[in-house]
Amino acid sequence: MIYQRIATQSGSVQLIDVMGSPLSVVNSARVSMGKQVDQMSEADWRLLDYLWSNEHTSPFRHVQFQFHVKAPVFVLRQWMKHQIGCAWNEISGRYVQFDHEAWEPQEWREGAEHIKQGSAGPMAEDDALRAQIIYDRAIEASFKAYEELLSAGVCKEQARACLPLSLMSECYWSCSLHALVHFLKLRLHHHAQAEIRAYARAVLDSVLTVEGMPRLLSIALST
Ligand SMILES: Cc1cc2nc3c(=O)[nH]c(=O)nc-3n(C[C@H](O)[C@H](O)[C@H](O)COP(=O)(O)OP(=O)(O)OC[C@H]3O[C@@H](n4cnc5c(N)ncnc54)[C@H](O)[C@@H]3O)c2cc1C
Repeated sequence: MIYQRIATQSGSVQLIDVMGSPLSVVNSARVSMGKQVDQMSEADWRLLDYLWSNEHTSPFRHVQFQFHVKAPVFVLRQWMKHQIGCAWNEISGRYVQFDHEAWEPQEWREGAEHIKQGSAGPMAEDDALRAQIIYDRAIEASFKAYEELLSAGVCKEQARACLPLSLMSECYWSCSLHALVHFLKLRLHHHAQAEIRAYARAVLDSVLTVEGMPRLLSIALST
């Protein structure tokens, strides 16, 4: 594991592996002229900028990242819509009996009448308390039903159907640098749901620890 960043109370993003660097992008592009360099020069950074700005994106697909992600199902459902240049493998409730682990909201937000996507500000304290009680009751009932179904002899693959969207799941996500930038642009944006934004931020923070990536991402995320 290269870096671990906690995205939520019980979730996490771990950067497991990285293949390539800004130099890999440059050499993938320079091969068309039969050229190769050993270290990055200012001309190479200008080349990266030119390539990205002009949508010559294939060299950016030679850098690969692998993450381990622990997140609630409703976040992973949004995240897994990102398919191109990505590989996903997730724990299976057909084979594994799930722990009683559900996502816990840090704060409850009000519904917004006039915004299609998203929510309004935080709920008033009393309303938030009431929401928490309703939520806890529902989660507890789901896990109880799950246990009862298993005890009654139902197979795991069917018993899991009563579990909530807030169930914590875990997976490996591998993606190219190109796919990563696409994900970050969409999921750091304020239109994205706050919960997946927290994960996108954790992904960004972990990639920023990799040599060369802060400058490369500042180019890719600004255009
Ligand atoms: C704020 C927000 C709200 C959303 N709301 C919804 C929703 O209500 N319902 C819902 O179902 N999804 C929703 N999505 C998911 C969204 O539609 C995308 O599926 C998701 O963001 C992944 O992006 P993508 O399709 O570009 O990624 P990928 O599938 O990884 O594709 C990456 C890129 O590859 C190219 N590409 C992919 N497939 C093709 C193709 N067949 N032909 C040509 N080019 C292709 C496109 O350029 C695409 O941008 C939402 C996303 C966001 C960010």
